[in-house]
Amino acid sequence: MYRTHTCGELRITNINQQVTLAGWVQRIRDLGAMTFIDLRDRYGITQLVAYNNAAEDTLKTIRELGREFVVQVNGTVRERSSKNVNIPTGEIEIDINSVTVLNASIIPPFTIQDDTDGGDELRMKYRYLDLRRNAVKQNIELRHKMAQEVRKYFDEKGFLEIETPVLMKSTPEGARDFVVPSRLNPGTFYALPQSPQTFKQILMVAGYDRYFQIVKCFRDEDLRADRQPEFTQIDCEMSFVEQEDILNTFEGMLKHLFKKIKGVDFDNPFLRMTFEEAMNNYGNDKPDLRFDMKIKEITNLVKGIGFSIFDQANYIGGICATGAADFSRKQIDELTEWVKRPQIGAKGLIYIRFGADGIKSSIDKFFSTDKLAEIGKTFDAKTGDMVFILVGDKKKTLGQLSELRLEMGSRLGLRDKNTFVPLWVIDFPLFEWDEETQRFYAMHHPFTSPKPEDIAFFESDPGNVRANAYDCVVNGVELGGGSIRIHDQQLQQKMFKVLGFSKEQAEYQFGFIMNAFTYGAPPHGGIAFGFDRLVSMFAGLDSIRDVIAFPKNNSGRDMMIDSPSVISDDQLKELNLKVELKTEK
Ligand code: ASP
Repeated sequence: MYRTHTCGELRITNINQQVTLAGWVQRIRDLGAMTFIDLRDRYGITQLVAYNNAAEDTLKTIRELGREFVVQVNGTVRERSSKNVNIPTGEIEIDINSVTVLNASIIPPFTIQDDTDGGDELRMKYRYLDLRRNAVKQNIELRHKMAQEVRKYFDEKGFLEIETPVLMKSTPEGARDFVVPSRLNPGTFYALPQSPQTFKQILMVAGYDRYFQIVKCFRDEDLRADRQPEFTQIDCEMSFVEQEDILNTFEGMLKHLFKKIKGVDFDNPFLRMTFEEAMNNYGNDKPDLRFDMKIKEITNLVKGIGFSIFDQANYIGGICATGAADFSRKQIDELTEWVKRPQIGAKGLIYIRFGADGIKSSIDKFFSTDKLAEIGKTFDAKTGDMVFILVGDKKKTLGQLSELRLEMGSRLGLRDKNTFVPLWVIDFPLFEWDEETQRFYAMHHPFTSPKPEDIAFFESDPGNVRANAYDCVVNGVELGGGSIRIHDQQLQQKMFKVLGFSKEQAEYQFGFIMNAFTYGAPPHGGIAFGFDRLVSMFAGLDSIRDVIAFPKNNSGRDMMIDSPSVISDDQLKELNLKVELKTEK
């Protein structure tokens, strides 16, 4: 037997027991008369002690130990004279009887502790060492617990977990595909799923009316902190349902997770907000509602009074930062530089300060105090507040105001990581116009159903058709989204037409699903939640990398296994990827 207990298990109640532990050497302190060793495994740390009068071969082995050696220790549990209240095993130590080195370790490139000295890249290269650290391990454990709770929830609700293929065909989520060459079918490629979208809809045709899966998806996109080329979704599809059923099911799942994992109760139904409301009030389709600070448009109030910057703008709007009147000149200048950075792109920042000593503004040359007070009223500004105003093109300015709002929320400490405000954003537009290619794209994907009342102007005015599509947003993070699908074949054909697919293209790409739909497709809809994002939010982290056991870096590389990598000429030939270049004579 390698061990009788784990390193996180022994307590004062185990005193005088003979035990055997196995684990990694975290730390050795040689105090002359005695040597202390911290032994670590997945479950915790236990202090070992060897006194000078121990057997010579035991002392010899101990002298040769180094950090991260794997050892087995036999000894007696004793009460510590100086207790450590910070760890569960802190009241006891093991008086070493014998030690066996199970394996040596070379010196690790960084310290295996919470505040490690290892940089990001180094820790990714030696991920197996990083995973030994408590901070990372906690995230992996949390992820496991959440996955189990998700499974329990869906199982109880009668959902089947069904695996769909990883080697499949391009899916319509709009990102680039990762492709895999087929050796047996020269010149052809599989695509890795961007989502199991088509398969889950086909499962509905097959009659499996409640499907879910915790599933790997792959999108070849530029990477950011909350994106990885491969990521995990909680994917779901249901038949004979309306939008309401899906929202309730997933609201229930989130509530279940918050309750089980965080002990947080949401008594009320999640807030609902249309896409239009979200854009107008927050400049964003994923508003952070931990704080209010709504965007207000004041175009009609201030345009045409002779201030040329306002007169030339087609949109003038702002936010009221509660309690920010004491911002210094320097802070305002700095904030002005902040909104002028290319990432935000505003031309300047106008402020109206509602101080105890009266109203002051960067535009008080052009506007009377009464007018400034009137503007303040629109924002419900009180003494102590500051209104910030941006002007320009409506869409761009709303985007900039959204960024400014979030920044002010952060600066004023209104975005507490332990407060959670979920909401559903509904009634998304079905299509999105792309200036560059001069065509419509499906905002969600081409199987998303329009709102029945908007079908009438589906072809005449596609830009104004709303979709039966919804997103779940928590604290400004889009956690998931989905839609009710088109199950009527003719409507689906029309959809492809608006999207600019020729009949042949639609047939080539989606013929299989269109065919399936001719055999009695039930009304259906679904949703997918980003599992990595959900876990990182529960863990209070900003990056999803820390909740993935083996993540990729910002260039999509796995630093540990050094992938992607070059493959041999033979492999290339076998896969018909080796093109023999003929030189022209
Ligand atoms: N397939 C969609 C996605 O991955 C979700 C859905 O429509 O169910 O975003």
